[in-house]
Parts: sequence; structure tokens; C-alpha cells
Amino acid sequence: MDFNKIKHAPKTELHCHLDGSVRVETLFELVLKEGLDIEEKDLDSFQERVKIKGDCDSLKEYLNKFVIPSMVMQTRENIKRITKELLEDASKDGIRYIEIRFAPLLHVNKGLSLEEVVEAVLDGVKEGEKEFNIIGRVILCCMRHMEPKDSKTIVELTNKYKDKGVVAVDLAGNEEDFPPELHKEAFHMAKEYGLNITIHAGETGIENNIVKSIDILGASRIGHGVYAYKNENIVNLLRERQIPLEICIKSNIDTKATESYKTHPIKEYLDKGLKVTLNTDNRTVSDISLTEEYYNLIENQHLSEEDAYSIIKNGINSIFESDSIKHKLSTELREVWDR
Ligand SMILES: [Zn+2]
Repeated sequence: MDFNKIKHAPKTELHCHLDGSVRVETLFELVLKEGLDIEEKDLDSFQERVKIKGDCDSLKEYLNKFVIPSMVMQTRENIKRITKELLEDASKDGIRYIEIRFAPLLHVNKGLSLEEVVEAVLDGVKEGEKEFNIIGRVILCCMRHMEPKDSKTIVELTNKYKDKGVVAVDLAGNEEDFPPELHKEAFHMAKEYGLNITIHAGETGIENNIVKSIDILGASRIGHGVYAYKNENIVNLLRERQIPLEICIKSNIDTKATESYKTHPIKEYLDKGLKVTLNTDNRTVSDISLTEEYYNLIENQHLSEEDAYSIIKNGINSIFESDSIKHKLSTELREVWDR
């Protein structure tokens, strides 16, 4: 396997949370600027607070890493800067198309309106696209633990910005205590509006959430779907309907959804004809780039060049964007591969 091909291929990032992907130097700078009271007085020790370094002990530890980002992401200026820098970092990582997701309701603690939050992100995307060789799109997340009416609000918001860079709506958060059907009315609305739907499901052991997300919520892509292997019918469903899985291995290792790069079912899914894509989930929290995800996967599961090509190509074919963008990226991928 020629790793240069991975490095230069036009990769897509379909599952990337903005608050989990804040550039760490910026985060530290903003913490000081906002006068937040933290123990860590230098960047090195601060990294430990916001990144998983080495083994992650629990989901609680993982979720704790989001506390600081969400505290500083409460002004237009900060949100816009963080978004633009994510586009820059992603473009350096060889990503040519990124869908950035976030939950607008987590960014209104200091008085921003939901519209202001979305517009701050879109402004950052626009500036980033101008300066870096990357296309940026946005996905708005509903949160499972919030009220069903909050999800309706986010669906309305998605619809309002659907021609302005927002391409889909998502449901994220605690899968154990809040099943998909709690939010079915909101996602029925989304369907009626003709919005793209992707849902976090089967990330933490409840494989049936994958089926519910497709059948009840109308998901056309699934976030993670790690546990599909527990039920052959679900694997078959994913294959027959060619529902893309947004797989994020390092994040799955951190949250104990899988043990290691070696044990993740991604290769099994690929071999069975499922449409698997590879993503980072949280670049900063999981301390990973997309290129590293590919390297680690290829090394640990002995992927062939053809396997790697399929995963990159699946990513391109699964974007919530036009066929012309897919075609352009596919042509570039073929060129890199045949070089
Ligand atoms: Zn996620």
C-alpha cells in the first residue's frame, strides 16, 4: 500500500463535530481571553484537559473534554474563527470536502440567537472556503436528551438555512436513555421539508437503534453503526439499501465501542458490501487526523489499495451535495490513484 496515495487523495470528512475539533492552541488562547478559571497554566498541560491522551477510562472522561470548548463557543467571533480554522486544518489533512456538525442549542448560553450561531459557522465556512482548497457544508444536530420540541426547532432552523450551506439534520447524544422514536415528529417534519437526515445510531451497543433511525426517523446515513454486526438482518438491511455508515474508529476506541483498530468491524462491513466511510468524529478530543485514521486502519486490518480506494470513493458518493461535486472529486481521486 502506497501511503502517498492516501495523503494526496481528495478525502471527504462526513462526521466531524465542531466543538470536538477546536484547534487546541486557539482553545487555550480563548480560555485565557475569556478569563476562564482553569488549573492548567501552560499549553502542554492544557492539552491533557481537552484531548484523550493514551487510554480513555470512560465515556464520562470523553464527554468531559467538551466542557471547555462549549464554554468558549458562545460568541459569533469565537465560533466563526474556530470554524474557519477547522477548514484550514482539514484542508492540510487532505480533506477536500467537509460536513461540519454542531448543536446550535449548546451555543446560546450567553445570549446568541440560534440564527446568529448558525450564521457565525456559515461565515467561518465561507471565509475558509475562500482561503483554503476545501468545500465546507454544515449539519445541525438535535440532542437526544433535550425536549422533542427542541428538535422541531432545529429542524425548522435547518430548513431555514438549507440553501445557504446547511445540508442536513442529525440526532446526537445519549443513545442509552433516549431512543430515536422520542424525536419522531421532528424528523417527520424534516422528511416533509425534504431535508437530508443522518442519525447517530448503534454507537454504544443498541444495534436496533440503527433500524429505528432508518425506518422511523428516515435516516439516509447512519453515524457510526458500529454494533450492526450483532444482528445479521441489520447488516443485510444496510447492504440492501446501501445506507452509508459514517465510521470513526479512534472515537469508537475512546468510548469503548470497540477495543482497538484491529477489532473494529469496518473491514468485515466493507467485505460484506456495506457502504462504509471513514471520518474523525472529533479531531481534537480524539487527537486524530483523517490521514492518521486511514493509516492506522490500513496497517491494523491489512487493507488492500482497492479497499482504501473503496472507502474514499464511498465517502465521495455519500456527501449531501450535488452529483457534479461528486463527479469532480471522483475524477481527482482516480487521477491520484492512477498516477
Ligand atoms: Zn458524532
